[in-house]
Amino acid sequence: MALQGVLVPHPLQPPVAEELPRLGAGGVDCRRCEEGDAGALWSDEHWIVRTLDQPSGLPMAAFLETRAHHDFRDLPDELAAELGPMLIRVQSAVFAIGDIGNVHVCRWGTGVSTSTSGSWHGPPASRS
Ligand SMILES: [Zn+2]
Repeated sequence: MALQGVLVPHPLQPPVAEELPRLGAGGVDCRRCEEGDAGALWSDEHWIVRTLDQPSGLPMAAFLETRAHHDFRDLPDELAAELGPMLIRVQSAVFAIGDIGNVHVCRWGTGVSTSTSGSWHGPPASRS
């Protein structure tokens, strides 16, 4: 269903003086650390690939995370060098499911301090 009518944007809220602490900051109450490899699709000494606990409506949604807590800006060189090939490997695995039209790779959210994460999901291949 397409939007109908006039969209009225809300005014932006002013910036906060200090952001709320990120979930799992410093490894405290960190779901990723607590779960370890439970439910992981794949893992090695540096990386974990997991998916959602519940169906999302997408053919696949996967998350690549480092085991250690890092943001992109402080990713150690070794992990930074592995990131590109890891992105391609996960993307290839999603395409291997079959009938995947495209695979989107993205990172979003600052609410969790665990690891670098990405998501791979894609719509079914278009049928014409
Ligand atoms: Zn953690």
